[in-house]
Order: sequence, then structure tokens, then C-alpha cells
Amino acid sequence: MLGAIGPYARIEMNDNTKITWIADRLIETYGAPTVRPHDPIENLVLTILSQNTSDTNRDRAFESLMKRFRTLEDVRAAPLGDIASAIQIGGLQQQKARSIREALNRIVQTCGRLDLEFLNDLAPHEALRWLLELPGVGPKTAGIVLLFSFDRPVFPADTHIRRVMSRMGLIPERGNPHPRLNQLLPADPLLMQRLHLLTIRLGRETCHPRKPDCERCPLQSECVWIRSHDPKHDHAVTLDKGGINP
Ligand code: SF4
Repeated sequence: MLGAIGPYARIEMNDNTKITWIADRLIETYGAPTVRPHDPIENLVLTILSQNTSDTNRDRAFESLMKRFRTLEDVRAAPLGDIASAIQIGGLQQQKARSIREALNRIVQTCGRLDLEFLNDLAPHEALRWLLELPGVGPKTAGIVLLFSFDRPVFPADTHIRRVMSRMGLIPERGNPHPRLNQLLPADPLLMQRLHLLTIRLGRETCHPRKPDCERCPLQSECVWIRSHDPKHDHAVTLDKGGINP
């Protein structure tokens, strides 16, 4: 679709092209991030611990958990109250303790041991469905485990990714962003890993919930939000309550 007519006319990107353009621009700006392999079960526990808390407190909670119990097998055998007190620093400790212990139990019930390698034998959508049946595991947690521990092409979106992608006009401000983002992206795990990490970085450093620093943003030429808001004026931003994530 033509965006304008005249000497400065440009071709509007379709959404599939736009999301890979975003990945390219973020890699050009920040460099390709190093993606380290993650143990699947540790990754699962860490992601459950990350719910509603900062990365720092998630890491502290995990460290405290492992210091207290040494192995995740010991966590599985521990009383809920002991697990909850070990992860208290991350908040929601009762709920997270229940989710972690129940998830570890289900893994052992399925595999006979604490091991998720059987997910390698499933198609991505089957592996996703299995993980989503675990307590405390939603599309973000399941996607993080599959993408970063199994190199499966399942893209997880957190609050930063949701905000950036909705401002870029690729997803609605509300609702589950995962089906649409996974439909738009090519099934390329490395691209998805890089896009995930770098979009979170953009959301933290530049595309802030209340006052996005659009002047510094490498995505501004294709951003839908900036076309209807002038971030220099606070009142313009506060009108867009729907785009502000808590
Ligand atoms: S131009 Fe502004 S609103 Fe758009 S993605 Fe960048 S920082 Fe966010």
C-alpha cells in the first residue's frame, strides 16, 4: 500500500516485513546478543519466579532456593511452606511455591525423572500444549522454555515486548499477543531469541511506558504510536492510557 504520493512517497511495509525489519534495526543498534543455553527445568523455575517481580529479585529468589535445597529434586520433596519462605524475596511466594512443586511433580510423573528432554520429540505446538497444562505456566513461560532451552520457534512476549509491538502497530494493546506475533514471525529460533532480548532492552531503556524517548529510538520511522503522539508533551502521552502497561 502506498503511504503517500509524490517524490517522497514510500512503500508501507506489511506486518511480516515490519517485524523482521524491527529485529534487523535492533541488531544494528545494539549488536546481536549472546544467547546462552539454559537448562530447561531451571529455566522453567526461573520463569515462574520472574512473575510480577524484577530480574534481580527473581535471581535472588532462585539463589536462595538453591542455597536452601541444593537440588530441584530436593525442592520437589520439600514442604510448601519451606519453599515459600526460601523464595519470599520475589513475592507471591505461596502461589509460586505451589506452581514450582506441582510442575516438578508433573514432570516426574510424565518422565519418571526430573527431565524435560522428551519435549524434543514433540512438535512445537504439542510441546507448547504440554507445558501450558502445568500450573503457573502461561504462554510467556512456556515460550521462554521452548525458545531458550530447546531452540524451538515459539516466541514469548513480556510486558515490554507487548508495549513496543503494540506501539509499532503489530498487535492490539490488550489481549493475548502470542498468536499474532508467532504468526508474523518466520520460524527462526535465533531471530526470535534476538528479537525477544533486544525488544525487552528497547522497552526498558527507550520505549518507556509513560514517556517513551522516541528521539533516540531506532524504530521511530515505522512507529504507529509516534505518528499520533508528540512525546515532548506530557498531555499527549497521558491521553493514551490504553497503551500504558502496568
Ligand atoms: S518511536 Fe517511541 S513509541 Fe515508538 S517504539 Fe520507539 S520509543 Fe516506542
